[in-house]
Amino acid sequence: MIIITQPTATEEQIEQIVARVQAFGVEAEVSRSESRVIVGVVGPEELVREKLLANMPGVEAVVPVAKPYNLASSEARGAASIVDICGVSIGCDSAVALICGPCSVESREQILSLARKVKDAGARLLRGGAFKPRTSPYSFQGLREEGLRFLAEARNETGLPVITEIMDARDLPMVERYADCLQIGARNMQNFSLLKEVGRSHLPVLLKRGFSATLDELIMSAEYILSEGNMNVLLCERGIRTFETATRYTLDLSAVPILKAKTHLPVVVDPTHGVGLRAFVPQMSLAAVAAGADAIMLEVHDTPDVAKSDGQQALVPETLSKLLPRLRAVANAIGRDL
Ligand code: PEP
Ligand code: MN
Repeated sequence: MIIITQPTATEEQIEQIVARVQAFGVEAEVSRSESRVIVGVVGPEELVREKLLANMPGVEAVVPVAKPYNLASSEARGAASIVDICGVSIGCDSAVALICGPCSVESREQILSLARKVKDAGARLLRGGAFKPRTSPYSFQGLREEGLRFLAEARNETGLPVITEIMDARDLPMVERYADCLQIGARNMQNFSLLKEVGRSHLPVLLKRGFSATLDELIMSAEYILSEGNMNVLLCERGIRTFETATRYTLDLSAVPILKAKTHLPVVVDPTHGVGLRAFVPQMSLAAVAAGADAIMLEVHDTPDVAKSDGQQALVPETLSKLLPRLRAVANAIGRDL
């Protein structure tokens, strides 16, 4: 952290700034040029509370040097991470993985039938919600443990590893019994007690970006999971709120290269929620692969018009089958498999 003083700062003010820095238990190094004095913080920046310095008399600006996240940063590892979900590798140079399935698990027949169809269409992982974060408490909330059981049955039959959302830390032991990867939904991205709890799980975690969260906030949430010892974290861009109303959210594809530059974690894109309209999901999926996504998450439903949630944005399996060769062509064009 560097503290830039005002050109008019007095010697007394500079002494007070230095004393305040030292009170945090770190050293201050004073550099003088003709026009002003700069105070450098020597030692762990996390110890220093930036805001307590910013308002001091004589201070013009406080510039952090260290990143607020350590374990997630690209420097922390030096190379991109690969997250393994029951033998399916996601990240680095691995093939781009398709994660497909319904928004909600609705019945045993539904998830078994869809699991077979998405597998035939090229999916490597199965998604499906048993606990649904619905805006209204009167909307379908999910089949809970029964839904998890059906998902596990679909996994056992097809071999597709299962990703499912966890909303409440108290459900973790139960979800762990059935799932292969935990999903933290956009609405829970900053549920810090839940993040810490899944940080102690043996399962990988797919962390979705909150729709009002900056990329740094998403990375800080990942840091919560990593700091508890769980190094298997996937970041997921799923659309953010903007002034645009033509789509459900605005899919922020620049998140992909930026997250990859800032962190070593694999990046997943969910064009389904980002766009919210079935007709435009294929194009945005192609764009997500082109942007460098390590996996694409797509909602698929046999009869979307009667789906219990998010039917308007779900692809039918036939569309997925037709999309697959096009996704593969884009992946190949940027030197990747799919
Ligand atoms: C979902 O994946 O079905 C879901 C609820 O996603 P999000 O948390 O991104 O809204
Ligand atoms: Mn959904």
